[in-house]
Amino acid sequence: MDQIKRQFEFFSSLGVTHFNVRRGEQLQPHSRTGPTLEEIRTELGDCRRCKLCSQRTNIVFGFGAPDADLMFVGEAPGRDEDLQGIPFVGKAGQLLTRIIQAIGLQRDQVYIANILKCRPPRNRDPEPDEVEQCEKFLFSQIESVQPKIIVALGRYAAQTLLRSTTPISRLRGEFSDFRGTLLLPTFHPSYLLRNPSAKREVWEDMQAVRSRLRELGSRYYQPRS
Ligand code: URA
Repeated sequence: MDQIKRQFEFFSSLGVTHFNVRRGEQLQPHSRTGPTLEEIRTELGDCRRCKLCSQRTNIVFGFGAPDADLMFVGEAPGRDEDLQGIPFVGKAGQLLTRIIQAIGLQRDQVYIANILKCRPPRNRDPEPDEVEQCEKFLFSQIESVQPKIIVALGRYAAQTLLRSTTPISRLRGEFSDFRGTLLLPTFHPSYLLRNPSAKREVWEDMQAVRSRLRELGSRYYQPRS
């Protein structure tokens, strides 16, 4: 019993919220072909690969369902996220939660992560050496979760994933390919807090995400039997 409790606590610390358990089987956070989130978290360890380690409170690994059909990728943790070790929990995070709910989903049904896992000082833009060290862990998380759609939140996430310098105002709303997965850039929730009129575009983008997920047979929108 103690061992199961410890396993639950360990997976919870990774942000895993769903488990597939069958009688007589070991506790597993849903198995797929890629590395498990647990393996990726173990590989990351007490990361000292870049200078951000010296000022962080917590590594912000990711949060949500390990088999999510929809994944959100932001830029980097802010102050609240650094303190709690969970992505998108501040004001922008509360807005992201409402955006997720607007397409009929809950936060723990999707997977949320960032390009960087540690907070840059005063929320400055990530620097190239930081991205170089960190993004491979995000790519492994994507490989593990295997979402049907990735939503890139804001200029930084969209340009980094797409290796593009096109402004977010032109990237947003257009699906493209990220390593075989559909990727849709949209505005960052922090931008929406400063520019509420841009919520209409994000609403349209999220409607497009919902339609694509339906077309792709996502279990999010299957009638329950
Ligand atoms: N902004 C981000 O890009 N990521 C977070 O986790 C929080 C705020």
